Amino acid sequence: MSEKNSQRESQTDYDILIVGGGMVGANLAIALLPLTLKIGLVDTYKFGVSEQPSYDDRAIALSYGSSRIFSGMGIWQNLASQTTPIDKIHVSDRGHFGAARLSAEKEKVPALGYLVESRVLGKQLYDVLNDHKEQLEQIIPASVIATKEIEAGLELTLVEGEENKERTISTKLLIAADGTNSKIREIAGIGVKKSDYHQAAVVANISTEKPHNNEAFERFADSGPIALLPMSDNRCSLVWTHDTKNGMAELEDTLALDDEAFLKKLGEEFGYRLGRFTKVGKRSSFPLALVTSEKNTAPHTVIIGNASHTMHPVAGQGLNLAMRDIAVLADLLAKYSDDLSGTALLTEYEALRAGDIKTTVRYTDSLVRLFSNDNFLLGHARAGGLLAVDRLPPLRKLFTRQSMGINYRQSRLARGLKLKASL
Ligand SMILES: Cc1cc2nc3c(=O)[nH]c(=O)nc-3n(C[C@H](O)[C@H](O)[C@H](O)COP(=O)(O)OP(=O)(O)OC[C@H]3O[C@@H](n4cnc5c(N)ncnc54)[C@H](O)[C@@H]3O)c2cc1C
Repeated sequence: MSEKNSQRESQTDYDILIVGGGMVGANLAIALLPLTLKIGLVDTYKFGVSEQPSYDDRAIALSYGSSRIFSGMGIWQNLASQTTPIDKIHVSDRGHFGAARLSAEKEKVPALGYLVESRVLGKQLYDVLNDHKEQLEQIIPASVIATKEIEAGLELTLVEGEENKERTISTKLLIAADGTNSKIREIAGIGVKKSDYHQAAVVANISTEKPHNNEAFERFADSGPIALLPMSDNRCSLVWTHDTKNGMAELEDTLALDDEAFLKKLGEEFGYRLGRFTKVGKRSSFPLALVTSEKNTAPHTVIIGNASHTMHPVAGQGLNLAMRDIAVLADLLAKYSDDLSGTALLTEYEALRAGDIKTTVRYTDSLVRLFSNDNFLLGHARAGGLLAVDRLPPLRKLFTRQSMGINYRQSRLARGLKLKASL
């Protein structure tokens, strides 16, 4: 070990402590494996238990950009065969004429994106983390309850294990990937902007009469946006938004319907582009709000993933945006590996991520608001907008590049390259 490294070790227990081992924290931990830093990963729940929020029944549409980041991390090679490529995306508005069609062939890329079940992704991430326990210490189950600034970084108080035993540990840099209600964000005194959509998403796996042919559908129906994403065994992953402005009755009704009535109601809302809906799996629901943190850094702290930006799932941008947080942060951690407790890293991260986060949040929010409005004129405007996206190559390119997650500064991982210990 170099003199520099041994000095570092004597100052704090960890170089980097990641709080939150959900999809974002676990991915970041894996992305950082090539760095010779002492890293700890804290989560309230043991991997794989049903209470852990990240790995449930949802399926995730990974953008082409995220697939390149996974390649750089060295896990796409195993994951790819467990995903379903999205070759085309069809966006339409029920009751209006316009439709936009995006295609991988036109964009000259292997796929516009890939669908993966979140449990499958979770299993892949645990397997890699469990294979690297020596390098990357898992502090699980444990929750952070307080932090205190010290000269070399931060001291954290945790409650750990089944008996909730208290202990303190120190780190040069804390990375909060602890989700929408981030405790770290709250302790750091970072405010949030919250806007409730008064909508909830019903999520289920669905079978259809006709094959999906690897096409994804975004349909803006009367009850709210419906996304149907192609999965293995000719199943589709359904994300069906319900309006809850006037109460939960409509949502509860849909959840309580027997399978036959559920499939009939879905057909009436979505239409019959894939023929009849024939089978539905377990249904779950998620309340939907936009939650954005006022900034993404605090002394010795970086906030990423849902802790920084929780969005409506309709455009499938949440994890994809977070993967770009990870890719940019990983570059900076390599660059500043000898100065993790300094402010230059924080300033540069804030500056590099602001544009992408703002654009992606605005893009998703505008889609939801524009298409959740039954104003007659807006209906015509969005029909015109969809036609314009379909017919005007530059606009289509912009829309496609946003969906593909490649419209941004390309970090090493985003170019599909492995992280280097020093840049
Ligand atoms: C229905 C639905 C469909 C979606 N579809 C897509 C899609 O197609 N494409 C896409 O890109 N995104 C999609 N998303 C968004 C995506 O799921 C999220 O962006 C992603 O799950 C965020 O992960 P996270 O790790 O930031 O947060 P979380 O998943 O909330 O994980 C936070 C982790 O932190 C832990 N934790 C919390 N507090 C503490 C504490 N105090 N101490 C220690 N640990 C703590 C929790 O146990 C958890 O493991 C969808 C979301 C929903 C709801």
